[in-house]
Amino acid sequence: MNVLSVRQLGVSYGGVHALSDVSLEVGEGQLVGLIGPNGAGKTTFVDAVTGLVTARGRVELDGKDLTGRPPHVRARRGLARTFQSSELFEDLTVTENLQVTADPSTWWTALGETFGRRPPSNPAVPEALSALGLEDLADASASELSQGRRKLVGVARALAARPRVICLDEPAAGLDTTESAELGHRLRAVADAGTALLLIDHDMSLVMGICDHIVVLEFGKVIASGTPAQVRTDPAVIAAYLGAS
Ligand code: ATP
Repeated sequence: MNVLSVRQLGVSYGGVHALSDVSLEVGEGQLVGLIGPNGAGKTTFVDAVTGLVTARGRVELDGKDLTGRPPHVRARRGLARTFQSSELFEDLTVTENLQVTADPSTWWTALGETFGRRPPSNPAVPEALSALGLEDLADASASELSQGRRKLVGVARALAARPRVICLDEPAAGLDTTESAELGHRLRAVADAGTALLLIDHDMSLVMGICDHIVVLEFGKVIASGTPAQVRTDPAVIAAYLGAS
């Protein structure tokens, strides 16, 4: 059964059709890629799915309709995302950065009442750290992390909320080849453990290497979808990328 099911999503900014009739599904344990040239509508798609922008069409999570629901309700139902610029709380440790999403109400209460006290432990936090291979950095300050580790912490933070699906917006941006390969390995393991993942990225070796299925957007429309092998050789996809370069 599909975890995330999106039907004919459409978004217009004034007269600009940023997204037209885009449909896709992500099943349990599946890693689906969403690619396309700059300005194709990938971030708009995630914004619409998570409720940040108003959209036409239908969004379902585990068969339940989320259309028209505000972002916090979608998040509570299990729809998580990371942002292109994944900001961390620099003064907090890696564990504390995850605690913020794993148990937000307790954390903010703790911050307000006794400044500096560690929030109560939540088993989702060590689980998420372990899934991303970050156990050894649990007590490190976020400010000490390399770019590659920061991205992994961003994914772990989303995972710590125990979501059904995570939409990842360009997690490999700014990473070198080794860091991107490590990220890919970890994302594949997260999907294999059952969390559905929707991956947006411009790093083609990452996307082609780990995705089960890929959807390609150009000018807000789906121009191709299929396995990495099918998409890689699709004439419309080749033309879209050559035209963009
Ligand atoms: P990139 O790969 O560069 O991040 P993208 O595929 O994520 O691009 P979007 O950022 O979703 O593309 O943009 C899709 C289209 O919508 C573009 O034409 C963009 O200029 C336009 N757009 C995005 N956000 C807005 C906005 N808030 N107001 C008006 N137009 C917007």
